[in-house]
Amino acid sequence: MPDLLAHLNPEQLAAVTLPNESALILAGAGSGKTRVLITRIAWLIEGRQASPSGILGVTFTNKAAKEMLTRLTTLLPINTRGMWIGTFHGLCNRLLRTHYREAGLPQAFQILDTADQLSSIKRLLKGLNVDEEKYPPKNLQYFINNAKEEALRPDQVEANDAFNRRFVELYAAYEAQCQREGVVDFAELLLRSYELLTRDVALRQHYQARFSHILVDEFQDTNRLQYAWLKLLAGAHNSIFAVGDDDQSIYAFRGANVGNMRDFEREFHVRHLIKLEQNYRSHGHILDAANILIANNSKRLGKDLRTDAGYGEPVRVYEAATDTQEAGWLVEEMRALINQGVSRLDIAVLYRSNAQSRVVEHALVAAGIAYKVYGGLRFFERQEVKHALAYLRLIDNPTDDTAFMRVVNFPTRGIGARSLEQLSDLARAHNCPLASAVAYVTGKAGSSLGQFLHLIERIRAETRLMNLPDLVRHLVQASGLAAHYQNEREGQDRLENLEELVNAASAFISEEGFRRDAPARVLPMDAGATAAPAVADAGADMVDAVLDAAAPGATTLVAAMTPLAGFLSHASLEAGDNQAQAGQDAVQLMTIHAAKGLEFTAVFVTGLEEGLFPHENSAAEADGLEEERRLMYVAITRAKERLYLSFAQSRMLHGQTRYNVRSRFFDELPEGALKWLTAKVEAGARWGGRSDNAGWGKDWFARGGVAAAPVPAALPSYVERNRAAEAGFRVGQAVFHTKFGEGTVTGLEGSGADARAQVNFKRHGQKWLALSVAKLQLIE
Ligand code: ATP
Ligand code: MG
Repeated sequence: MPDLLAHLNPEQLAAVTLPNESALILAGAGSGKTRVLITRIAWLIEGRQASPSGILGVTFTNKAAKEMLTRLTTLLPINTRGMWIGTFHGLCNRLLRTHYREAGLPQAFQILDTADQLSSIKRLLKGLNVDEEKYPPKNLQYFINNAKEEALRPDQVEANDAFNRRFVELYAAYEAQCQREGVVDFAELLLRSYELLTRDVALRQHYQARFSHILVDEFQDTNRLQYAWLKLLAGAHNSIFAVGDDDQSIYAFRGANVGNMRDFEREFHVRHLIKLEQNYRSHGHILDAANILIANNSKRLGKDLRTDAGYGEPVRVYEAATDTQEAGWLVEEMRALINQGVSRLDIAVLYRSNAQSRVVEHALVAAGIAYKVYGGLRFFERQEVKHALAYLRLIDNPTDDTAFMRVVNFPTRGIGARSLEQLSDLARAHNCPLASAVAYVTGKAGSSLGQFLHLIERIRAETRLMNLPDLVRHLVQASGLAAHYQNEREGQDRLENLEELVNAASAFISEEGFRRDAPARVLPMDAGATAAPAVADAGADMVDAVLDAAAPGATTLVAAMTPLAGFLSHASLEAGDNQAQAGQDAVQLMTIHAAKGLEFTAVFVTGLEEGLFPHENSAAEADGLEEERRLMYVAITRAKERLYLSFAQSRMLHGQTRYNVRSRFFDELPEGALKWLTAKVEAGARWGGRSDNAGWGKDWFARGGVAAAPVPAALPSYVERNRAAEAGFRVGQAVFHTKFGEGTVTGLEGSGADARAQVNFKRHGQKWLALSVAKLQLIE
């Protein structure tokens, strides 16, 4: 026992050893929150206050969940098998896999990722002849996910006007389509398991009795439904140990609700609110930068961070003429760090949006520095990998229409759009899956479609007894994908990725503890069926035994499912973080969102330009700006010893050259902590963050160089050049904003670049938005 607690400071020790009551640990970045949470789990188990199966641990990313399990096993020689530690989505998936019948799902239900969901919605709209201009698929997707996160089914959504009623109808049609196809989207995973636990008293009581200790990391980023889900599992008797940092709340745009912290304190009668103020991660200059920046936010619960580490190196700031030059500089600095002995794994490049990685990647390739991109076009999102996964899904579940549509004519089999439309119509008319509707299609189209089905059935039969990697290998050949990419001019990379998919399948099997020779598709035992009565009859231990037997060694996600189903869930849920070169000594590239909770010796935060960071969609109103600032706080606090901040005067993004000025965040950082590597130019009027097609930027840029001339006074404003965009705004007008959803204009003021609208959003209340940046859409 002393070993476990030896390296904790008094506040951390108090937190780890709190009695079994709900508690909130509210503390800044790098103060040891995650460490406290993991140590507490070990302490509870070691002191026999909880069994490993009595712990429910929730983290934010798959990477964090894995890390938690690894760190636990280094603290305690326990078997983490059967422990419920994972992300909300991963845990809900596990619950639904075990109780698919009670949840009204087919055993082989598939998970739609965000892109799959969008294509499913597009297919729906097409089938119903809905005008996509009027009802953009993305808006519908947002509407549906929002409703689900509020735990609202279509019949519970309030709709006061025709436009909204149509959205609700489409939501209902989408649900019917998903149910028919046996698929669930991310939000559905959560809502379905929430409803299951609400409805099924025996099941709820079983899990309440099982999870005596619920521990949640990154609590500030839970949304309302996640919070309600936790509450349900806690019941009247269990405690929740929540750790979080309001200054790191960066998912409000997805419905995360910092208010959960206050609700939690009140509803769970939290008597123990512990603050940790000692930072163990960052050197002094870095911490000063973080503290002073975040002090610009007004909505804070308030806390301080100090360090004993000394000031260390100043934060280095670099202004580049172009994004390419910025990347070149970055590579040089990186080389110097590597020469000084810093491991590549300990160097991170962070950026606000994924699209920014390309230039950096290019420079790294040229310099021969190994790197790994997290997020972005993740491995499992690459076209060829998604094609192969779609075949796998069809083999597992023939009613999966999204998968069917993806590969029915890939590689091409002469099945045209016309035939597919006809097929969709027939499926709708007969209310059956596309695969079943093939029987109704006549003529040449009918026979081509029949051949496709025959192919799927053949592969299904051929692979019946194969293990998962063999199945994947066979499928890549038999589907025709391998031959297709062999003939494609740039198909080599794609072929390699398909080979990598076979490796991913092998890795998955060994990581999740499935027997290597277990057939991919026959359940080790019918765990779902056994588990359900067990809940009613025999109670917790038996369910645990069933889960463990179903997937020996199962860690985060998979229990009671076949290797193939497990692998497909993994592919949908996985953030792509253990693929290809896992463990290789490579520089880490990721968005700031993906870097949450992580730490590195050296961190480069790039693209610090107005419009990019803070992002133009957020900078228009105070809440958005505060969220961007929290994001910057997260970025800074990832660094232990070295922090580099850079920006470029011009940047190619989305096929356009943008001319930008440096981020306002530079004005909010303490000069004393910074070291400018390029001459610091005092910003005149700030004018950045717009795309330029008009040509003036080029002149300005030509005069610029690194230390650019002051901004020309008479820049044509973006809004003036796009006056039409403003047209149509009037008080009472219904509008849609990608982040805040629907609202009504309640006031207008200013003109040209200063035009602002006051909008009352249904979900987010009253806000002032600058029309030049807010991208409000008019709705009828
Ligand atoms: P974040 O808010 O970024 O998630 P956190 O509060 O979860 O940060 P941790 O990741 O748990 O912080 O800890 C930050 C670093 O400090 C880790 O490297 C951790 O091992 C180290 N650390 C935490 N507490 C101590 C301690 N008492 N003594 C030495 N090192 C510590
Ligand atoms: Mg943490």
